[in-house]
Amino acid sequence: MNELIERMPKQIFLAGRWRDAADGSRFAVRDPGNERQLCEVADAQDADVREAIDAAVAAQREWAATAPRERGEILRRAWQLMTDRAEDLALLMTLEMGKSLAESRAEVTYAAEFFRWFSEEAVRVDGRYGRNPAGGGGRMLVSKHPVGPCVLITPWNFPLAMGTRKLGPAIAAGCTMIVKPAQLTPLSMLNLAGLLREAGLPDGVLSVLPATSASRVVGPALADARIRKMSFTGSTEVGRKLVEQCAPNLQRMSMELGGNAPFLAFEDASLDDAVKGAVTAKMRNNGESCVAANRFHVQASIADEFVRRLTEEMSSMKVGHGTEDGVKVGPLINADQRDKVIELVDDALARGAKTTTGGKALDGDGYFYAPTVLTDVPPDARILHEEVFGPVAPVTTFETEDEAVRLADDTEFGLVAYLFTRDLDRAVRVGERLATGMIGVNTGLVSNAAAPFGGVKASGFGREGGAEGIEEYLDVKYLALAIK
Ligand code: NAD
Repeated sequence: MNELIERMPKQIFLAGRWRDAADGSRFAVRDPGNERQLCEVADAQDADVREAIDAAVAAQREWAATAPRERGEILRRAWQLMTDRAEDLALLMTLEMGKSLAESRAEVTYAAEFFRWFSEEAVRVDGRYGRNPAGGGGRMLVSKHPVGPCVLITPWNFPLAMGTRKLGPAIAAGCTMIVKPAQLTPLSMLNLAGLLREAGLPDGVLSVLPATSASRVVGPALADARIRKMSFTGSTEVGRKLVEQCAPNLQRMSMELGGNAPFLAFEDASLDDAVKGAVTAKMRNNGESCVAANRFHVQASIADEFVRRLTEEMSSMKVGHGTEDGVKVGPLINADQRDKVIELVDDALARGAKTTTGGKALDGDGYFYAPTVLTDVPPDARILHEEVFGPVAPVTTFETEDEAVRLADDTEFGLVAYLFTRDLDRAVRVGERLATGMIGVNTGLVSNAAAPFGGVKASGFGREGGAEGIEEYLDVKYLALAIK
């Protein structure tokens, strides 16, 4: 295990070269499963940031001029390298982030798929040519071009996938990039940078700057009008600040922000499917996912049976260090995150909610919280309004379809909703009414490299993945041609 950490890069990746921070400073990365230090990583300073910005700007023109096929082949090789090294990538992620090895393996596959998907999209960017429809005389030529140098900011919960989802389309489109990985999980992204270099990514196209101060990296980049795009995945609170920071230079923005997903189970649902979907939607990634089901609204006639079966499933999940055999639920990322889960559950209990399993943090090293089901949760409980980011399922009931939709939409967020029913008319009717960017119908898993991932309202704007994903990195240009 230490051997793996030993050989992983821990320096800044600056325009294709590894080096220490300008002043030599470093910060510690810890294993949330036992609180021990794994290693130290270079802490990017102002001078490093300036250099990365200049390098991204300097490389942009030549990179944009490369053949799309060439960029696609770099991505394809990177997909292959990720696939070949899946075990190392998975273990590294489990060590720095905590999720079980099985979950890390699944993330490696999912993350790599963005490279394969965008290797295929790189060659499909096209424009159009046509008569000027209004005047009839001239012609118009519409083409798409890379937006230019980008700043990409990623969170700690999916250290690889949130990176490849941005890097894949940026590379395919021909943009240069500066990446600011989450301070808690920089190792996966640094390793990915080395892998992209091996896959043939030219020097200068990518810099990865881990840092203890996010604004030290992002602030100067957004203050520089030569940087043309910012893509952010993280909390709504930080997203709002970044929108303001993009205002002076009007950089293009993609905002993948927080969620508070409702899960609706109607009485005509298959209970087997609903419970299985509930466990997936809630427990994937220890509940630390923007698409985690946060509020379970169940039609009253099936609520008791749903709770009984969900409790059975949740209480049988093994909790422990992500590398242990059979572990399904790893630690939360740090003490703050664990304390937030404690606070939200205690608040619900104080207002009258009850637990059918769990309800407490676990003793010992590491930030563990027991898988928890809450019932009788009153409408004013904070857990129904705030993203819990932990293994807690609060269940409430509804009587009618209208009430279900009202409860589901009673949130500032609009990332995803899950609905379980065997009535196709109802699935379409309710699905079309819900104010979210994504809907899982009889499934607890919506993430897919081929699909447009993203939200509405306080969950942000822009889409990652699918045919839409590359458009975020392309500007449209039109030439008016006078034809005599
Ligand atoms: P966060 O907002 O605290 O941090 C995200 C990233 O932004 C990190 O790299 C962090 O260092 C950086 N950051 C923090 N403050 C910054 C600042 N002032 N300027 C620039 N960068 C700054 O979020 P987090 O705790 O790492 O991640 C959890 C959040 O991310 C949750 O709200 C979750 O819902 C959301 N999330 C959303 C998606 C999505 O696709 N919608 C996916 C995963 C996570």
